[in-house]
Order: sequence, then C-alpha cells, then structure tokens
Amino acid sequence: MILEQLQSELDGLQRDGLRRQRRSLDSPCGPAAQVDGRRLLSFCSNDYLGLANEPALIDATCAGARAWGVGSGASHLVSGHLTPHAALEQVLAEFTGFARALLFSTGYMANLGIVPALVGRGDAVFADRLNHASLIDAVQLSRADSHRYAHGDLQALERLLAASSAKRKLILSDAVFSMDGDLAPLPGLLELAERFDAWLVIDDAHGFGVLGAQGRGSVAHFQLPPAPRLVYMATLGKAAGAAGAFVAGDATVIEWLQQRARTYIFTTGSSPAIACALATSLELIAAGDGRRDRLRQLCAQLRDGLAGSRWRLLPSPTAIQPVIIGDNHETLRVAAALYERGLWVPAIRPPTVAKGSARLRVSLTAAHQPADIDQLLDALRDLG
Ligand SMILES: *Cc1c(COP(=O)(O)O)cnc(C)c1O
Repeated sequence: MILEQLQSELDGLQRDGLRRQRRSLDSPCGPAAQVDGRRLLSFCSNDYLGLANEPALIDATCAGARAWGVGSGASHLVSGHLTPHAALEQVLAEFTGFARALLFSTGYMANLGIVPALVGRGDAVFADRLNHASLIDAVQLSRADSHRYAHGDLQALERLLAASSAKRKLILSDAVFSMDGDLAPLPGLLELAERFDAWLVIDDAHGFGVLGAQGRGSVAHFQLPPAPRLVYMATLGKAAGAAGAFVAGDATVIEWLQQRARTYIFTTGSSPAIACALATSLELIAAGDGRRDRLRQLCAQLRDGLAGSRWRLLPSPTAIQPVIIGDNHETLRVAAALYERGLWVPAIRPPTVAKGSARLRVSLTAAHQPADIDQLLDALRDLG
C-alpha cells in the first residue's frame, strides 16, 4: 500500500539520522530564542544584520499596511504591482548598479523563473557542484543540458565550455556558498562568460547587504562592472530582514524576464507592506557599516577561538561558519549536546550537503554579542 511505503521511507530517514524536526519559536527572530519554555542562544538565522526584528522595519511595515493594505490582490502583470513595488525596484537597481531590477516573492521562485527563461532544450548550463538546491531545480526545470564543475574550479569550467557546442550557454553559481560560506571566483566566471558568450547568473542570497561597499553585495565586493551578460539575483529574507528576492541586470534581460519568467507571471504580487519595509531596510543596509563591522569582529572572534582546537572550520570569510563533523549521527549528537547547554546550532546533513560532510552551520549576526560567541566557544571546547 502506498501509505505504508511512505511510512517505511520515513522510518529509513529516522534510522539514517536524516529525519528533520521543527522547533516552534515563542519569540521573534534574534539571538535569544524562546523554545518550549527555554531561552536558547541561537546561531541559526540568516538575519546577518539583525534587521528581522528591527523597530524601524516594523514601523515601516505597519505604516505600509495602513497606506497600501496587506495583500496586492493580483499578479504583478494584472493589477498587483503597486507604487511601493515600483519604487523598491528602482532603489534596488540603483543600489546594485544595474539598469533595472525585478521583484520576486521568494529567492527560490526567482531562480526557478530566471534560468528557464534564459535557456531551454538544446542549451547548456554550467553549474558549480555546491550550488543551492533552488539553482539545481531551476536547471532541471529549464530542460537545458546540465554540466557541473568542481567547486570553484575555473579550469574545469573552461574545459566544459570549450567542449560545448550548445546554442546558448549559461554559467550558474552561488556568489557566497550557503553551506560553506566561501565566495565564488566572480571575476574569473565573468571572464569566461565573456570569452564563451555565455550568460553569468549569480545568486547572492548571502552576500547582499553584507559584502561590498555599503553592503551592495558580491559584485561590488569584487568591483565588477554591471556587464550586460551578468544577471544578478539576491534575496530579501536574509540580510534585508524581510522576505522576497529580486533580479537585477541589463534593461533588455529584465524586460525579457518580466515577459517570460513563469514564477514572476503566474503568482500573486508580494505584499506592498513588505515592499515598504524593504525600502527602510535598504536605507539601514546602506548606512550599516557599524553592523557589518560588528559582524566581522564576531567572525574573527569565533575563528580565533577555534584555531588549533579539534573542530575543523572551513576557510569562510563570511558570517556562515561551518564546523565540519562528517557523520550524520555524530553531528546530531554534538548539536544535541550544545542544545542541552542552551546553544542552538543547526546540524546540516545530506541532501543539503554531500554525504560524509555533515556539519554544524554556525551563522553569526550583527545582533550577537561577543559574550555570545564566548559561550559557544566554551561549550565547543568542553565537548572537544
Ligand atoms: C535562501 C536561498 C535561496 C532561497 O531564497 P528564499 O527567498 O528563502 O526562497 C536561494 N539561493 C540561495 C543561495 C539561498 O541561500
């Protein structure tokens, strides 16, 4: 019976240490999380600048809802595109240095919309092996041939591009890798895209707001020009503290995506109140050097504190600081031991990461205090 088959698959997940449990928070997103009557110190969120529960954003959301309502009522191409959406797209384009920007409801939807709009059957996508799941799904949905290159390996990518006779080519990469925290070699990727006349689509979910001058993102970090073949996607639910995503690029590309990205066209426009919140969020990001400095200092404190210990950190220069453990059950055991001490660090297992590379994904935010890091360091030292 099909239901029994499902149950035995679920039992299998449990056995392999792969069954995921949710915990319900009794508090807003922040370093202090209230769960099951306990107060935990959380290192889980992607709220890198600590904006998710920022009073100015809450005020902007409330004012936005009073002025524009909660729902948009229709898709953007019908009547769900309101003045706050249009204004936000304008600001996002200016902030990232591209001609135009287009809002999506989530980053997952943006990726599923962008890739199939640019390539299809008979075309080829060249993707970093550690790309985010939404990019992997986007390639499948496009029906283009998928070529995956070893993580960050420009020479392997070059060989694949040289061997391809595809009509249209697209290079696809996270800008900051979500489970490793390292950066893609964007200048090298752009050079190859130019040489082989390919699109370069990058997903800056973890760089936007954090990297580059004023938090303008990974393209700004590398001081790359807004090349016409560069399609820049970033999300607004991480450092920006709210929800949604956008794609920015050359005006022709963005117009094409507006006409052809199915996850843009066939969905209700996001809440105008959130667009109002995001306008404030962008002001705080631009003026957020203090928050970014604090984040960098906390990262350095964690890395220095674990240097020479048994815990293996990846060489990540960002707020994502994974501690590699390997075995699923061992990773769960360490995460459970930390939890016992009031420290909430997510155990990341396959299929999110490769088999045998289960890890604690410590993510830091500007809302953490140095004493929080000390507490995590003490616990890890004890457990080590
Ligand atoms: C979080 C994330 C997404 C998805 O964005 P949402 O807005 O949460 O749907 C896409 N790509 C990367 C690299 C991410 O980390």
